[in-house]
Amino acid sequence: MDEILLKPIGKVKSSITESKEMPRGGKAAVIEIFEPYTAALLKLEENSHIWVLSWFHKADRDMLVGSPLNRNPEKPEYGAFAMRSPSRPNPVAITLTRLLEIDNNRLYVERIDAIDGTPVIDIKPYFENDIIFSPRTPYFPPRDGEQLQAMFMRQALSHHQELCPELQIGVRMATLASNTFGHLNTPDLFIHVLGPPCLADTIQGLSRARLANPPRFSYHVDEDSLESHWSQGERHLSIMLKPNVNMERIMDLDEEELFVIETWKSQ
Ligand SMILES: [Zn+2]
Repeated sequence: MDEILLKPIGKVKSSITESKEMPRGGKAAVIEIFEPYTAALLKLEENSHIWVLSWFHKADRDMLVGSPLNRNPEKPEYGAFAMRSPSRPNPVAITLTRLLEIDNNRLYVERIDAIDGTPVIDIKPYFENDIIFSPRTPYFPPRDGEQLQAMFMRQALSHHQELCPELQIGVRMATLASNTFGHLNTPDLFIHVLGPPCLADTIQGLSRARLANPPRFSYHVDEDSLESHWSQGERHLSIMLKPNVNMERIMDLDEEELFVIETWKSQ
């Protein structure tokens, strides 16, 4: 088989018309399903999340090796199949997104990183079976602290599902810890959380640290403290929320205004 013929089943309607304007993580959009295929949407609304496969028709198809987009300034190279760059021999894009609403042939999705007019080639439901809580992946360090924090905020919201003050504190703590240790989903990084369940849930979600197999995460319920303790080999980091912090300003305050931070090395 030398060629495969694909027919678009729909297209993306987005306010973003140029890929360079696409925010990291994508943008809310509508997927318009074409008339001959609308019957295939039967019962799709039973799913909260869907995989959208689209065709990045403007992507470069010649690149086989490159560096993950806008990530590491040192630019280590990866093969196209080891990256999620739009540049690849067949520019099939796969996006996991929340399905907000279906209105006839229009699917409203929370975010997709496809520009206006992108052909959609398939839709599939996301199943519980798709979850892999702590996969092994290479670490592409984000460009800067701001990007790291924005990524953690998205991941935390998708894991914890509510924007509570403890989630914000967990995001700030994880950002700080990542500045010290790098990749948080790494087998020799151990985390202990002391505080309310929302803080533990957020930090567990961001670090993918499990209670067992292997045990990297421990937790003590304490409604009066908000602390996380991180250790990797001989390096240790403790982050404790200061008393009387204005909980409305967690994302604005400097680390030193928010936390008591201690680092030390054990023998
Ligand atoms: Zn919460």
